[in-house]
Amino acid sequence: MFNCMTHHSSFDGKTVVVTGAGSGIGRETAIAFGNGGANVVVADVDVEGGEETAATITEETEGHATFAEVDVTVDADVERMVETATAEYGGLDVAFNNAGVGGTFDATEEITEEDWQRIIDVNLTGVWRCMRTEIPVLLEGDGGAIVNTASILGKAGEAGTPAYTAAKHGVVGLTKVAALDHATDGIRVNAVCPGYIETQMLDDAGVTKDEELLEQTKELHPMKRLGTAEEIADAVLWLASEQASFATGETLVIDGGYLSR
Ligand code: NAD
Repeated sequence: MFNCMTHHSSFDGKTVVVTGAGSGIGRETAIAFGNGGANVVVADVDVEGGEETAATITEETEGHATFAEVDVTVDADVERMVETATAEYGGLDVAFNNAGVGGTFDATEEITEEDWQRIIDVNLTGVWRCMRTEIPVLLEGDGGAIVNTASILGKAGEAGTPAYTAAKHGVVGLTKVAALDHATDGIRVNAVCPGYIETQMLDDAGVTKDEELLEQTKELHPMKRLGTAEEIADAVLWLASEQASFATGETLVIDGGYLSR
């Protein structure tokens, strides 16, 4: 679990929404915000995972948490998520738009339109849908910080991942535009670009269960290992904190050297 002593920033009394907080990177980041004293709206389509994260924050951290069942492809759900922040905690300070699904492995001309639409809808349009609802609330308040989850595949391509790579490149572009739109409004918008991280997503892709594939995936990273969700949480907390007060439109790569090859 997360050690609050590793953080020099405090989110005491700040209200944070985290999408995809029922598992992996979202869960560890939500818990890290809890360790910083935040009020966290834990949003996920996965009720069991989301409730578990919220219970962990309430029971084991300085912070408070409320679970909101949210599908980021549904406008009304996203609106309810932001309303939960304002109704329960009186406002919104930070949003981590992180929910995502893994891609299919298909060549560009072979992916079905259904798969294409679904992956783009969650991974790209979902981030836009969240920001569309969050930004007016941040503007009404004292401003704030948004962090979106892109990927190394938001900066480079990988054969057989057309929709996922297009969506993550889209998140990088959208992050820059939202940062420019609100550069003088006290709202900073940044993204993290993780390398391969040990989460359910890699289990679902069959990577962690296949010894050979796991080794190959580690080898893609000059550090010769996968990253951890905690290592991404650290970067998100920095981007969301006052310590990053001059950072906006940044897409912070945390990838064990993957993109430096
Ligand atoms: P994960 O599968 O552990 O967690 C993803 C969470 O998002 C799950 O709890 C899932 O229920 C939720 N989710 C999926 N669709 C949703 C929807 N429509 N609405 C709300 N919630 C939804 O995976 P993770 O690795 O923690 O992924 C988090 C983010 O990190 C994703 O955006 C992913 O693309 C990105 N990412 C992951 C890796 C990696 O190697 N694991 C690398 C780079 C980027």
